[in-house]
Amino acid sequence: MISRQELKKLASHTLTDAYFVSLYLNVDPKNNPKDDWLLHFKNLSKTTPANLPAAERQQVNPDIERIEKYLYDRPSETKRGLALISCAARNFWWVYHSMVTFRNDMVIKREPYIKPLMQQIDIYQRYLIVVISGEQVRLFIAGMGMMEPVFYVTRPEVSFDRTRDGNTGDMGELRAQRKKETSERMMFKGAAAAIADIVQSEQIKRILLGGSEGARGRFKDVLPTQITVRVAGEFTVAGNAAEKEILARAIPEMRKVEEQFEKRALEELFHKISIGGGGVVGLSDVLTALQQGNIRKMYIISNATQPGMVCKRCGALTPPREHSCPYCDGEMQKAPYIFDHIIQKGIDQGVRIDMIENAPELVKAGCIGALLRY
Ligand SMILES: [Zn+2]
Repeated sequence: MISRQELKKLASHTLTDAYFVSLYLNVDPKNNPKDDWLLHFKNLSKTTPANLPAAERQQVNPDIERIEKYLYDRPSETKRGLALISCAARNFWWVYHSMVTFRNDMVIKREPYIKPLMQQIDIYQRYLIVVISGEQVRLFIAGMGMMEPVFYVTRPEVSFDRTRDGNTGDMGELRAQRKKETSERMMFKGAAAAIADIVQSEQIKRILLGGSEGARGRFKDVLPTQITVRVAGEFTVAGNAAEKEILARAIPEMRKVEEQFEKRALEELFHKISIGGGGVVGLSDVLTALQQGNIRKMYIISNATQPGMVCKRCGALTPPREHSCPYCDGEMQKAPYIFDHIIQKGIDQGVRIDMIENAPELVKAGCIGALLRY
């Protein structure tokens, strides 16, 4: 699970004398029955450099070559989406495997092209997972079936002067206990500050607390309200559990929370439609509203695909049609994955987009719906 901070850092590299080759591929086996993505890469590697000034095209040859070698070796970590940024001239190489597909694209610029990654982060709900024990607090960002550590803090060492405290009986024990409590509180406060920072910089709306019930309870005592309001769920796990186990426990909890949010959101959408305004469902009506710039929020079934058309001249999107563009009479081009184009256009218009996992009613209505601005 990549972070916004990491992406911003990545994008801050700018060169004056060399290029970054940024490649995005849909490597989902479902869409690539015969490793078609290799072919997509081949095509992109011919067409994209052709846009560079003739004298500079050769500069990216080493990048194309090493990307090709990497892809033809069939990287074993491949999931559904692959992002790759290369600048051979600076010996720069960055790969990201995503549980979510990308639209096939190659961009060659003086800086890394990160827009598809940023969009992925913004569209898919991410969680801050906090695993608490008396000894340490660990923070992870999770979403899209993946999880990555972002921060941890351990309890400060309790200095226990045995000569002063005396190693004799209850008083020493009690003092040691108090010191331990104080240092735990310090650690919790440090973690709370880190959570506030991360929630802000990563724009994360939902937090899950993991750990023993006791540790979670003590931790909640030190959390400020602006953080507690984001706690969407809790789960029990050992404080020192392996990441794999934490993720396995967190996933059902995230799913439960998402289902509740989705259910409420869709109730609102279908209620608006039933009272005759404020919402639309189905490809055709959503596309009309999108063309009018009238969508406030969009809901899309996350694994749905539908074909559509894109106007070559004005970029308008329509359901499959035989005729020229209804808006400018331009020539229409088939778009096998029209939802990708809808998401892109929605993002460009500042539309909030929610990918929905499980909603039979929305599937029946065409896998897409939208709340309108006016
Ligand atoms: Zn048009």
